[in-house]
Amino acid sequence: MQTTTRRIGGWGFEGEVYPPSPQLVEWLERRVGPPGPPLAPGPCQPPQLPARPLPRLASDVSSDSRDRLAHCRGQGLVDVIRLRSGLIPALPDGVCRPADAAAVAAILGECRRAGVRVIPWGGGTSVTGGVNVVADSSPVLILELERMAGMSRLDPVSGLATFSPGTTGPAVEAALAEHRLTLGHFPQSWELSTVGGWVATRSAGQESLGYGRIEDMVAGLELVAPAGRLRLPERPASAAGPDLRQLVLGSEGRFGVITEATLRVRARPATTIVEGALLPGLAAGLDVVRELVVSGAPLTLVRLSDANETQMAMAIGLAASAGASLVRRYLALRGLGEEACLLLYGSSGERACVRDVLLCGRATVRAHRGVVLGARPGRHWLRDRFRHPYLRESLLDLGWATDTLETAAPWSAVAAVREQLVAAIAGALAGGDERVAVLCHVSHPYRDGASLYFTFFFRCAADPEATIARWATVKRAASQALVDAGVTLSHHHGVGQWHAPWFEREAGVLGRRVLATVAADMDPDGTLNPHVLLDPEDRLEV
Ligand SMILES: Cc1cc2nc3c(=O)[nH]c(=O)nc-3n(C[C@H](O)[C@H](O)[C@H](O)COP(=O)(O)OP(=O)(O)OC[C@H]3O[C@@H](n4cnc5c(N)ncnc54)[C@H](O)[C@@H]3O)c2cc1C
Repeated sequence: MQTTTRRIGGWGFEGEVYPPSPQLVEWLERRVGPPGPPLAPGPCQPPQLPARPLPRLASDVSSDSRDRLAHCRGQGLVDVIRLRSGLIPALPDGVCRPADAAAVAAILGECRRAGVRVIPWGGGTSVTGGVNVVADSSPVLILELERMAGMSRLDPVSGLATFSPGTTGPAVEAALAEHRLTLGHFPQSWELSTVGGWVATRSAGQESLGYGRIEDMVAGLELVAPAGRLRLPERPASAAGPDLRQLVLGSEGRFGVITEATLRVRARPATTIVEGALLPGLAAGLDVVRELVVSGAPLTLVRLSDANETQMAMAIGLAASAGASLVRRYLALRGLGEEACLLLYGSSGERACVRDVLLCGRATVRAHRGVVLGARPGRHWLRDRFRHPYLRESLLDLGWATDTLETAAPWSAVAAVREQLVAAIAGALAGGDERVAVLCHVSHPYRDGASLYFTFFFRCAADPEATIARWATVKRAASQALVDAGVTLSHHHGVGQWHAPWFEREAGVLGRRVLATVAADMDPDGTLNPHVLLDPEDRLEV
């Protein structure tokens, strides 16, 4: 039974599990081989790493060993492996929970004077090493923002709502629901991630096609930096110089602590319906997605799985729920079965409008020889979309490891980038005679391109450090392939510590230097999260 106690060393809440279906186990055995040794369930006991002294701060500091353990790493695969197996290289020296922006400013001042590093912590759901504590000569303090939560202002006429940084996804929607409003920001980590974390990482929710990314929602911000406070009041638009909001968005806690965000909100939709379809192949599927987006039809979500991911979806029962075995037989009769690609498309709003939009989706699918599956696969997906992350923990229990990475490319390059990345990831462990299975879907479509999201699976190695080394080998190969292909290191996960060694290839020498200059100005002594974004050291294996 799910509790409200957050799991340490794994996704989500204690008691919640998402076991793989027998078909998925059979699929993994076929694609990567029999499982390796199962990983210990965890969490491990906190390691004996004494807390170094911290200065007296404006807020109480916890040095409780479980609190330090729960705040030493984020939610990447390697973080979970370390937290389950006890291979923890460093713990924070304390966890502090300020109540307001004034307390944040005082803490930053005291830590700066005392040479303490400070890591802002929202939901701790980073999958890029963004909140990870690095063994360092300086003490490390986690600035846990959970007490700074809630909606502080609402301007219903302008559709603007101001939130404190530690407000989680469900708390945002609950506060807005009372006023029949929604933010519409639903990253898969929605249950645990926070407003401050979304802004700091330039997050994208699953319905970004309709509601936009977080940067489309941010109207105003407040940032507290060691050098002072930056107030950026809400503006519908402005031509008064470069937009400083864009400098805060994606700053990953390196420039300052986001203490408030004013977000654009909308009327709560009467209904959300997601339908499924099968397309005869990836090329036809990409044409459908692009045509739908360019047509301007008010869809909120379009997501196209490649053939591998479609087969996996069948294995976990998603498309099977729509009687897809029949559809597959039908496609097989056309000689196209194995290449079939699952498409989900959805819309939110008044029921009649949603129905019209979906009719447009169906017409486009049929124009490309696709088969409409109706609303059942979409219902299945909507029901389980926040449960899928639990699958990783169940697979580690069995001896398989899985992780994800993502990018974005212009339409003209999407298919080629997918092929290059699949080849780089699938072949990354070939030297060690290990297979990697790779799935991809195209989502978050724009008029000029879309995001590509890869999920990969491999066998756990004989010991956890060797499993981490396998993961790091895949990550290096993938990051190199991304920069070689000239596409972005991340569409929505951010840079963190793990993509930072490749960041200069993304931003250019001058671009990186501009950001380093901003960091030096806002945070002259490198107090805040110093190893994300701009520190090029490879920390995949620590
Ligand atoms: C299962 C899973 C699914 C995910 N799905 C998505 C998805 O669909 N879309 C998506 O965009 N991301 C996704 N992510 C990645 C992650 O959830 C996002 O990056 C999210 O925005 C992080 O929010 P957080 O509150 O957990 O931030 P944290 O993980 O706590 O912090 C992330 C970074 O932001 C900094 N930070 C946090 N709060 C502040 C603040 N107030 N001021 C300054 N800096 C701050 C931290 O120091 C760190 O560098 C997923 C992650 C997981 C584990």
